[in-house]
Amino acid sequence: MVRGIRPFMANRRILAVKECPTHCRPISISPVFKRFAKAMIGQTVTAVRRLGKRVVLDLSNLTSVVIEPRMTGLMLLANPPDVEHLRIEWQLEGTREYNSIWFWDRRGLGTIRLYQPAELEQVYGPAALGPDALDFTSDHWRERLTQTSRAIKVALLDQKLVAGIGNLYASEILHVAGIDPRRSSKKLTKPQVQRLAQATKAVLELAIEYEGSTLGDGTYRNALSQSGRYQNEHRVYMRHDQTCPTCGIGIIVRLVQAQRSTFYCPKCQR
Ligand SMILES: [Zn+2]
Repeated sequence: MVRGIRPFMANRRILAVKECPTHCRPISISPVFKRFAKAMIGQTVTAVRRLGKRVVLDLSNLTSVVIEPRMTGLMLLANPPDVEHLRIEWQLEGTREYNSIWFWDRRGLGTIRLYQPAELEQVYGPAALGPDALDFTSDHWRERLTQTSRAIKVALLDQKLVAGIGNLYASEILHVAGIDPRRSSKKLTKPQVQRLAQATKAVLELAIEYEGSTLGDGTYRNALSQSGRYQNEHRVYMRHDQTCPTCGIGIIVRLVQAQRSTFYCPKCQR
């Protein structure tokens, strides 16, 4: 999401912030919309960055806007899946290929908040949020995982332990690493932790390159509202009852851990 909008949003001045007409229940915006819009208008977007699963827009007055897409939120340059669920439009100064950015959210669970620098540090600083998964070395992993006996799949989704791994990717990472998702985090062996570190990088980097996964509900889209391509790379996610593409022997199993689906191959993930 960040990669798609960055070239069209970074270093541009915000001309207007508009609430899109919709019959849906409004999404959570803070402060209230009028004040939120007023605080953004006239500011230049100095950076567009990812913070775990969030999108952060840093502004020239040093405030930051944190957009949390949750289940179905998208930042789009064009072609929304429908107009009914468009929520916010940012109009940008100048004429380029795209001059507006929209937040679209079908279920409306996304949140948009404006933060002063100190608040941002308090809520999302290193003390509050785990370091980003892409920056994790095997030492980071070892240090963090020895502190919890929760199943490794559940630990991977804990954003305080490590930021940026979604449910789909947790299954894929553990499959690539050859680790049983039910295994206690602190019982992982040294080679397993090493494989976990490598698999996390490999899976997340590929997912970013392929612009994410568009699942059966068709919700996930890149900034131009095109499907992601990572879904063609899934080895286990939503492939339960199918033969494992890695070992060709195991049958992929679906189980539920902490209310979320996990998929794994009992043959090559021990
Ligand atoms: Zn297998």
